[in-house]
Amino acid sequence: MPHHDLFSSAPTSPAAQAAALREQLDRYAHAYYVLDAPVVPDAEYDRLFQQLQALELAHPELETPDSPTRRVGGAPLGAFATVRHRVPMLSIRTETDTEATGAAAFDARVRRELGLKEDDPPVAYTAELKFDGLAMNLRYERGVLVQAATRGDGEVGEDVTQNIRTVRQIPLRLGKGAPAVLEVRGEVYMRRDAFERLNERQREAGDKTFVNPRNAAAGAVRQLDPAVAAQRPLSFFAYGWGEVQGWDAQPATQDGVLRAFADFGFPVDSHREVVQGADGLAAFHQRIGRLRETLPFDIDGVVYKVDELALQHRLGFVTREPRWAVAHKYPAQEQMTEVQGIDVQVGRTGKLTPVARLAPVFVGGVTVTNATLHNLFELRRKGVRVGDTAIVRRAGDVIPEVVGVVPAERTAYVPNFRMPKHCPVCGSAVVREKGEVNHRCSGGLFCSAQRKEALLHFAQRRAMDIEGLGEKLVDQLVDGNVIRVLPDLYRLGLTALAALDRMADKSARNVLDALEKSKQATLPRFLFGLGIRHVGEATAKDLARHFGSLDAIMDASVEELLEVGDVGPVVAESIRTFFDQPHNREVVEQLRACGVHWPEGPPAERKTLPLAGRTVVLTGTLPALTREEAKELLEAQGAKVAGSVSKKTDYVVAGAEAGSKLEKARALGVAVLDEDGLRRLLAGEL
Ligand code: NAD
Repeated sequence: MPHHDLFSSAPTSPAAQAAALREQLDRYAHAYYVLDAPVVPDAEYDRLFQQLQALELAHPELETPDSPTRRVGGAPLGAFATVRHRVPMLSIRTETDTEATGAAAFDARVRRELGLKEDDPPVAYTAELKFDGLAMNLRYERGVLVQAATRGDGEVGEDVTQNIRTVRQIPLRLGKGAPAVLEVRGEVYMRRDAFERLNERQREAGDKTFVNPRNAAAGAVRQLDPAVAAQRPLSFFAYGWGEVQGWDAQPATQDGVLRAFADFGFPVDSHREVVQGADGLAAFHQRIGRLRETLPFDIDGVVYKVDELALQHRLGFVTREPRWAVAHKYPAQEQMTEVQGIDVQVGRTGKLTPVARLAPVFVGGVTVTNATLHNLFELRRKGVRVGDTAIVRRAGDVIPEVVGVVPAERTAYVPNFRMPKHCPVCGSAVVREKGEVNHRCSGGLFCSAQRKEALLHFAQRRAMDIEGLGEKLVDQLVDGNVIRVLPDLYRLGLTALAALDRMADKSARNVLDALEKSKQATLPRFLFGLGIRHVGEATAKDLARHFGSLDAIMDASVEELLEVGDVGPVVAESIRTFFDQPHNREVVEQLRACGVHWPEGPPAERKTLPLAGRTVVLTGTLPALTREEAKELLEAQGAKVAGSVSKKTDYVVAGAEAGSKLEKARALGVAVLDEDGLRRLLAGEL
């Protein structure tokens, strides 16, 4: 892995080395903690941090009180009021040995400090997950949340109470038996699915994406606008505490306290375990390591804590960390590596995706050689060029992506990447629709890249479930021009199949059997299998339930489609466009002619509510109704209540002190109603 030295020549004396490392670490920590915009992966920061630690250990005379090794976090940003923590919020010592021996080293240290002999019984530990988010101190007085503060530099944090109130998982009021004062500490984090959705939205809108869930969560918590913060769904786990007063029944163990927190209404992670000694810790580390990929949130390791609070107390603290806890890490999910080239891949829907070809790098548990750059705009925003050192992220089962580049001076001129004008697979023109961020091949089913993907999509288990129709077979069928359109699948004969490479008679027969079996389909599976843009499994099910038959869906207008639960304008438009193409209808007809069928039913009871299809925007304060009441009344009649005014708005209901929305309604000529007007609308008089 190339390591960036930002020095033109490496400093030689230990003092100069230490100074250079401190300067570099301070800069990275500022970007990470204060700006929420890390410039290098954690693994790189940790590597430099350990270098400095080693240097200070070997040369104690070089230690300074303001060294990054002696400090926690970063200074507050200044945009929020500051909060002095009554009990400092510390860091946790990191055990970098990611093997079982890492756990043993911690246990040995604890036993030594406690003066335990070899034949004394094992120490009990709570083993917890190390959530990758940001630490939060929640202060409750007489059971009511009065303040939420970030860790900041450990002594002074930021007051982010307004934003934290929007986190649904955090109780605003505690149940019975809450102490007079209770500061609950825990991690605010963003689930991976929420993070992916947020980035997808940002990407579609051509906005800046977030590097990782931790970063997105930190950004949301420190959003100055609570309304924006509220749109970035955050979660919380309690794992510790600060000041406590008047808690007579406080349990005597870490695990006991966490159970009490759960009773108070806090989310507490259930993977945690009370284990005995080094072996128990190592087994936990291994078990969670295997689970890590499948967790719905990022963790960067596990945390071991001496379970008994009396023992914690005896062990006490060193400068920036307790002696009774340690973080035991897993291999990093972000690493740096060199971009050796930028290729373009064509997807099932014809989308062209720039993909970075990388010097092989071990990240998130596998060796990665390619990582997506998503689209041209994102690539440009991140400033990726061939030869750069990129930060690659791979977490869970999400495909590896380039999240940024390490700022460095380019020594040679490297031209900006450009999208090809012609599809690299079929040579058709590449187009980009107005307002779209993605480039697409216009070749449709003519483009073999799309044909192959379309076939695989159609055949997959969750769609038509054609067993044996895998990538290799599809490659041969498409490359050999045996299959030009989807229905050709069902026209395959034994001779044609058996003539293919490595296709024994028996497997050919199996494929034919699977094809025959797949003809008995269900409407949702068939619909999903067609590969209509934006129509996933869930939407396909909703559509089938709502309309009952394929013909009804094919003929539905955009308005009718919009009546389906989760179908918004983009999805409705995409379905309409798909079935407006004669060749797509032809494909459906041919498939039916080949014998593909499914049971159809009557449409789900269609609620034709009086205001269905109408969009209303509420603004200002109405004399009698609250905004929420007005919204409920409208929605009960089928109207959609939107947040902003556009040409598609049918009515704006304006109360006192209506502002820009009213102006916009007037400018666009949208009908404006007062509360009386609203009542008339609801009564069907308009
Ligand atoms: P830390 O994150 O390693 O450990 C302490 C923190 O762990 C706590 O504040 C808490 O937020 C969290 N935590 C999660 N689960 C916990 C649990 N069950 N119990 C207790 N705490 C739990 O320490 P740190 O001091 O915040 O900083 C180091 C981290 O920040 C490293 O991972 C480092 O790589 C990263 N960092 C990265 C950069 C960069 O430029 N990429 C810069 C600075 C720091």
